[in-house]
Amino acid sequence: MQMRYDTHLATTIAAGSGICFFQQDTSFTTVYITGLIAGSLLPDIDEPSSFLGRRLTFISRPVKRIFGHRGITHSVLTWMILAYLLSPFEHPFLTGLLIGYAVHLAGDLFSSRSIPLFAPFSSFRLKMPVTYKTSGLAENIILFISVVISIVFIQQGELIVDILQGPGIQTLIFP
Ligand SMILES: [Zn+2]
Repeated sequence: MQMRYDTHLATTIAAGSGICFFQQDTSFTTVYITGLIAGSLLPDIDEPSSFLGRRLTFISRPVKRIFGHRGITHSVLTWMILAYLLSPFEHPFLTGLLIGYAVHLAGDLFSSRSIPLFAPFSSFRLKMPVTYKTSGLAENIILFISVVISIVFIQQGELIVDILQGPGIQTLIFP
């Protein structure tokens, strides 16, 4: 089993809003949040039964067949290559995407199954000293705490203002 997509989304929003809370130059805009959501869901594209994989089976089936679930898309090397390739483009969507992807990997890293950090070159899985079982009580607690933390950051940081006053999601298609 893997961490559920809703838990991935909640932990990503918690981290993504926290970054905006502590760091003034990142704005919690709709475009940034869309990037967070995309990055949070993207690594599980290798699983046809995942939230994104179910909708994009033409990608998820071949990726799973070739690389296996929690293979190359759950590698830190893949994240680093992605960060390198996207670095010339300074865009809040891409910033969100990289944060969401990283938080997804961190979430799966602490699960009892862990992730292959250096796939495809090594199948080594780092076992964290504290792990949780996916889809159990522990995951529900992580989900709940993440939602609470997000609400605190959004409220205390007045991040709703960023959503309301920042560029809308349509600017992704019509800049
Ligand atoms: Zn995953």
